[in-house]
Amino acid sequence: MISVNFQGRSGIVLGVANKRSLAWAIAQQMHQAGASLCFTYQNERLRAKMEPLVEDIGGAPLFQLDVNDDAQVDEVFAAAAAELGGRLDFLVHSIAFAPREELEGDFLDTSREGFRIALEVSAYSLVRTTRAMVPYVPEQGGSVITLTYLASERVVPKYNVMGSAKAALEHSVRQLAAELGPRGIRVNAVSAGPVSTLSARGIGGFTDILAHYREKSPMKRNIEAEEVGKASLFLLSDLASGITGEILHVDAGYNIMAI
Ligand code: NAD
Repeated sequence: MISVNFQGRSGIVLGVANKRSLAWAIAQQMHQAGASLCFTYQNERLRAKMEPLVEDIGGAPLFQLDVNDDAQVDEVFAAAAAELGGRLDFLVHSIAFAPREELEGDFLDTSREGFRIALEVSAYSLVRTTRAMVPYVPEQGGSVITLTYLASERVVPKYNVMGSAKAALEHSVRQLAAELGPRGIRVNAVSAGPVSTLSARGIGGFTDILAHYREKSPMKRNIEAEEVGKASLFLLSDLASGITGEILHVDAGYNIMAI
């Protein structure tokens, strides 16, 4: 019988900004399943928000990491593995960013720099951090998860270049899954419905998007961050041992609707 038990397994969680972060919802599930965790924070301001959260789960190593800094990525993954007994069984990648002005006007007006930044932080970072993790994945294999959004597949007004970034991210999931499959490393994504987080509130008309999902989704409600956490736990666990390169929608069914 397979149960979700991460005792003896360890991983690194990227993208906790505060208690509302999807990364935190995932971390809580992983912690409850017995995993040993370490976390990264983008800057000192966010470290102060993280410390009390991490204390609530009995403490965990914290490392500062800006995913644009290649040297720092390698250093942090080496330090994280060292803290966790030399192994990293899983990686939670829950990071995205686009300059605010790119999420306000028309996609047609996307700047060269805005496009570069959005794709670098939100998509390339998955490739780069997965590469940094691979040397520490035990022989039996490991698992990577990232967070995406339906704007990769459909047009979501105002989401603009973040849709381009999510399309690149989802392609990266498939490409990494194909290359790392023989090494026993699975790579998947959860495509989450809207959840009120720090990043989401930066999208113009986010409250209207939440209401639209409540009205149109088959389940007639918004999802909870906890539901993203549970689906991520499943994908990271042995229950999903035959699944890789998958984009799993956790959106109360919204994506199946045409009108
Ligand atoms: P959040 O603001 O809590 O998390 C975003 C994280 O990205 C933050 O921790 C931030 O510090 C980090 N980050 C940004 N730039 C970084 C950099 N250069 N280096 C290191 N870290 C950096 O918001 P969230 O909604 O939890 O977002 C997490 C992921 O979920 C994102 O990929 C987002 O696109 C995705 N997502 C969110 C929703 C939603 O509605 N909230 C829906 C679908 C997908």
